[in-house]
Amino acid sequence: MNEEIGIFSSKRVEIRQEDITKVAVDAIVNAANNSLLGGGGVDGAIHKAGGPAILEECRRINKRQGGCETGEAVITTGGNLPAKYVIHTVGPVWYGGKQGESEKLRSCYRNSLKLARENGIESIAFPNISTGVYGYPKEEAARLAIDEIRNFLQNKDRIKKVLFVCYDRENYEIYCRLAEKLR
Ligand code: ADP
Repeated sequence: MNEEIGIFSSKRVEIRQEDITKVAVDAIVNAANNSLLGGGGVDGAIHKAGGPAILEECRRINKRQGGCETGEAVITTGGNLPAKYVIHTVGPVWYGGKQGESEKLRSCYRNSLKLARENGIESIAFPNISTGVYGYPKEEAARLAIDEIRNFLQNKDRIKKVLFVCYDRENYEIYCRLAEKLR
């Protein structure tokens, strides 16, 4: 039995099909944009459900450091969400794959997990970053998301639970199929 089998079989990593704003974990991850000042998709849903406290903190971060670079992550309160924190990360726009998109998308997962660890977070939920309006091919995005999480969890640390929260059916089916192969 290798490490890949471990992450899904041990239930340390799970796949869900639901609305990430309803998930009760220590932190949910937002697929934000560089300004951090709100957008559509999962970003819009998180700000709508979480209320103005999240946007206020995002504005302060924007003033202080000019937003968030692609592949980087910042943390704010979860406002009115069941989650205590929101980790905002900015996924790459898909330009065909030759503009460093995969490394940037990997960085999103890695930097979000680093920030989670630094903040004592034990459970975290990820949306399918970049696979909405940013157009990243879903299967490729899922493969590297799973790979990054697996690499990260090889370090012993406090993160006990990672959820892949798939909103659309296509992503959910891709993740289930990949997980099944890894079991
Ligand atoms: P990006 O700009 O990074 O592509 P989007 O928000 O357009 O971000 O889409 C990213 C993913 O988030 C898509 O797979 C989309 O189906 C998903 N999504 C949209 N709304 C929600 C939600 N409420 N909960 C979880 N995932 C969501």
